[in-house]
Amino acid sequence: MPQRPRSVNCPTCGQPVEWRPENRWRPFCSERCKLIDLGGWATERYRVPAEPATGQAQPGQEPVS
Ligand SMILES: [Zn+2]
Repeated sequence: MPQRPRSVNCPTCGQPVEWRPENRWRPFCSERCKLIDLGGWATERYRVPAEPATGQAQPGQEPVS
């Protein structure tokens, strides 16, 4: 069976990337594209809006115990 290098497309920039063990950034073409992708996900996570606190103790009011 001939060993042909598999090729995938970089999820970030769409460039063809050879799927090889020595390509440590696969499926990305480079570290840059990998970081860009990870950064995008992190941004999505931080974009979750904070729920306004309702029915919570007012700030500055300590529970008396
Ligand atoms: Zn890329």
